[in-house]
Amino acid sequence: MDIKERRRSALAEGDQITADLCDIVISGQDSDGTGTVLGHPCTVQDAEAELDQTTCECGQWSGVPCGWRGPSEQMVVVEFMPEVLRESHRAARNSGQYPHNGAVHITVERKCAQLIIANDPDWAAIL
Ligand SMILES: [Zn+2]
Repeated sequence: MDIKERRRSALAEGDQITADLCDIVISGQDSDGTGTVLGHPCTVQDAEAELDQTTCECGQWSGVPCGWRGPSEQMVVVEFMPEVLRESHRAARNSGQYPHNGAVHITVERKCAQLIIANDPDWAAIL
């Protein structure tokens, strides 16, 4: 098991994240000159963050982030065309290909994706 997996299993079992489960260890010397671990910056929150928690990026489309956070398997990637580029694509009658056309990929929660597509069917698509 690598250190990440050990952290995950420690978390799953409700254990503390101890220094031996942390990549970054602040070490120093004791008064008797032996090396010692003084501490480590890993917290349970860090370990949870590592458990594939992703923030919904729908705010890049709507301007107002929904604040949803969750596992990435509940998310989909949406491609949309930023408002400022739409006019030139309309004029060219060709919206081109990502990424050359300026389209943006965002990772959003499924409900947000459906909302985006429902409101912006011509310029957004779920990938
Ligand atoms: Zn969202």
